[in-house]
Formats: sequence, structure tokens, C-alpha cells
Amino acid sequence: MKLHEECGIFGGIMTSGVVAPIVQNGLFMLQHRGQESAGLCCGDEDFSLHKGKGLVMHVLPDSRIKDIRGKIGIGHVRYSTQGCSDTLNAQPFMVRYLNEKVSIAHNGNVKSAIEMRKKLEHEGEIFVTSSDTEMIMKKVIKVLCKPPSQWELKEVGQVLLDNFTGGAWSIVFAVPGKVLAYRDPLGFRPLFFCEAEEGFFVASEDSAFRHLEPINIIEIEPGECVEITYNNYKISRFAKETKHKKCVFEHIYFSRPDSNVFGRNVYMTRVELGKKCAEENPVKADVVIPVMDSGFAAANGFVHHSNIPLHMGLLRNHWVGRTFIVPGQKNRKNGVQRKQMPIKPVIEGKKIVLVDDSLVRGTTSKEIVRMMRKAGAKEVHIRIASPRVVDTCFWGVDIPTKQELIADSYEFIADLTKFIEADSVAYLSFDGLKDVFGKTGWCYNCFEREKNYD
Ligand code: SF4
Repeated sequence: MKLHEECGIFGGIMTSGVVAPIVQNGLFMLQHRGQESAGLCCGDEDFSLHKGKGLVMHVLPDSRIKDIRGKIGIGHVRYSTQGCSDTLNAQPFMVRYLNEKVSIAHNGNVKSAIEMRKKLEHEGEIFVTSSDTEMIMKKVIKVLCKPPSQWELKEVGQVLLDNFTGGAWSIVFAVPGKVLAYRDPLGFRPLFFCEAEEGFFVASEDSAFRHLEPINIIEIEPGECVEITYNNYKISRFAKETKHKKCVFEHIYFSRPDSNVFGRNVYMTRVELGKKCAEENPVKADVVIPVMDSGFAAANGFVHHSNIPLHMGLLRNHWVGRTFIVPGQKNRKNGVQRKQMPIKPVIEGKKIVLVDDSLVRGTTSKEIVRMMRKAGAKEVHIRIASPRVVDTCFWGVDIPTKQELIADSYEFIADLTKFIEADSVAYLSFDGLKDVFGKTGWCYNCFEREKNYD
């Protein structure tokens, strides 16, 4: 595919030593969730903010990290879903209020953000960014009206609940002496807690703790929150149990394969999706080629069911970013050509099955089919290990406008196949997706339901 979310958050408090290198490493581990900007905010009673546009390695190099003091820290990697991608909108945000500093980082989207911002502006509030995150911070400050060091875990949760229910928000705050973290009651985005030798931490994915010495890793449930202090932590519930809406795209594309998101391993889930896709959409071919990297696990699943050999017929250039993470259609197309390179001996004279995790705009697939033909493929069949994406996302994933969705432009598979210039195209069915994930507890909103489009 390529879609794009998203953001990654990391935060915590050291039991001894400075936190900045730990946050920096956590952000390295979360880089796949956003590559436009990176930042961290660290300190104890006072905080310093360091952020900018670009990758973690460029914005937060060791030379910058070595001078950052403090045991408390939060960090963020960003891809803009709300607000433009300039440095001002990079996170964390930090403000001074009643002589104390407070910082916030957020992954997700706020429901009715535009209306809420307008309302606050009419009440005299000033915003320096166009991001939802600043609005969350201002709302919490406005309701609580007391020094951030006195903020209680549950009262902040109540403000979030009263004002942002229905949105997707995994949020982390740094206040003097504490880190507070929240996962929204519907649970769209993941959030994890780690008790480690080094201290206590939270992050968007458990793979962000790989550089630590973990003692215990806990997935924070929807509607739960975490308070971390210098020598202790507390996990509690701030919202009643409700029906969950965990984003299946976390498994299909966003999260790292070694993460265990929403109670299941991401890589193994993708293998299951590939198996199911092969079961539903058999094809006679000589070789299965994964669209690297995100289609690799699904291709393995496809091979497992179909018994067609797997080969790396496409080489992924790791020195360019994920296509989905490059905003703008023209940039994305150029990105495909720079990113995927065919390995001719694998392809020449063969009937190929190309397996990818999803098909959103069609830019990547069309370009890759052309590459395959140029490299001498006899037939090119596309198999997609998720259903058709037919709607945009209101919860922080940058699924394009409906007009940009390939499924919207080509209602019938025959037309889509012609456009992509493939010999056949087939998707995992919606029922197949539900067989893998289960009927309830998931957000499937952007996928096509039972419709027969053949
Ligand atoms: S609409 Fe799609 S991308 Fe958005 S949260 Fe739901 S499943 Fe995820």
C-alpha cells in the first residue's frame, strides 16, 4: 500500500541517571510511525524542549542528547494528520503555566477538532499551532486551573473524557515530578507500560522497550491511565469499560512486526492474513513476490497455503522513507521508483504473484506491475491481504480523500485490474478479515463490507 498514520509516543522516569538517551532510543524504535518530525522534552522541576523536522537521527543526534538533563522525559515522532507539517507542529508541545512547565505528546485524532478549536478561540484562547495536541493541552489547563505539579491522574482523565470522547488519543504528559499517560476508552491506538531496570516507561508499541532491561511489560487497556513518579507507578481506570474500536491497520501496516499490539503479535497476524487471502484467492503461478517490506509477512502466509515458492523479486531501498509517509501524490509516485527495485532473474519468464498488505491509492502497485513487466514477467497477479479500503479515517490515519482511493475510482475489479495493468487482482474478503481478527472490538470502518463487486 501506502497509507499513512500516525505518530509514536514515548515517555517515562528514570530511577537513576538521565532520561534523554532512553527517550531518544525509544523514538528510534518508533521511527516507522512517523518521519516528518521528532522531539523530546526532558527535565525534573524544569523542562527543556528539543524538536525539529526530520528523522530522530537528524533532529536528536547524540551530540544534542548528551547535554540534556533530567530524569523525566517524553518524546514523539510525527506524521501530520491534523495540522501542517512545519516545525511549529512538531511534538511534544511545552507551555509555561503558573510558573511551571508542562509538556504533552499525542498519537491519534480528536473528534470535532475544528468546531472545538473555533469555540475555544471565541472564548479568547490563542493557538500557536494548527495541531489537535495544543488544543488538548489548553483544554486541560483551562478546566483544571492549577499548577501542573498538582494535576491528579484521574482528574486529567476526566477532562479528556468530558471533552474528547469518541476520538483516538494515546496521550502522555510530563509535569514536574510526574508522567501521566492515557489511552482513549475506545482504544483505537495502542499504549504500553514497561517496568524496567532503568525506570518506568510508556510507549505506543512494546517494541519501543527493546533497548531497555524490562522486568514487566503491560498493555494499557482502553480507558486506562498510568501515573509514573520517581520511584513508583500506578495503572488505573479513568473511563468505564465500553465497546472497543482497535484499529486493524495497526496490524495490517503501521506497527512493527515484532510488536505485540492489542494482545497479538503483528508479524504472525500478517502471516494469518496472507494465508486467508491465498485460501480465498487461489492462482496458478511460478513465484510469490512480496512487496517489501510490509508485504513480506503476508506473502509468507500466502506461500504457506498455496505452496508456490517465495522469492525476493523486489529489493527495497532502505535509504528512502516509506511512501505513505511522504505527503503529496507526486512525491509518493517518485518514492515508489526510488524504493522498489526488481531482481530480474527471479522475474523473467515467470508467472508472478505480487503480495501486498493493502491497496489504497494504487500508485505503488501500478508502478510495481510495470517494473515486473519490464523485467520480463509472463503474468502478474496481485493479491492484497486486506479488504478494499473505501472510506477515509476520522481517527488519525491519513487515508486519502474518497476520490483518491483506488477502490472509489474503480468500483469493479475488472476495471481496477486494467488500470493497474495486472493479469488479476484479488483482495482478502471482509469476512476473511473478521475471521482473523474477530467480530467485535475492532474498527473496520474504512473497509468495504459484504458488497459483491465482481
Ligand atoms: S477507519 Fe480504518 S484506519 Fe481508521 S481507525 Fe478504523 S480501521 Fe483504523
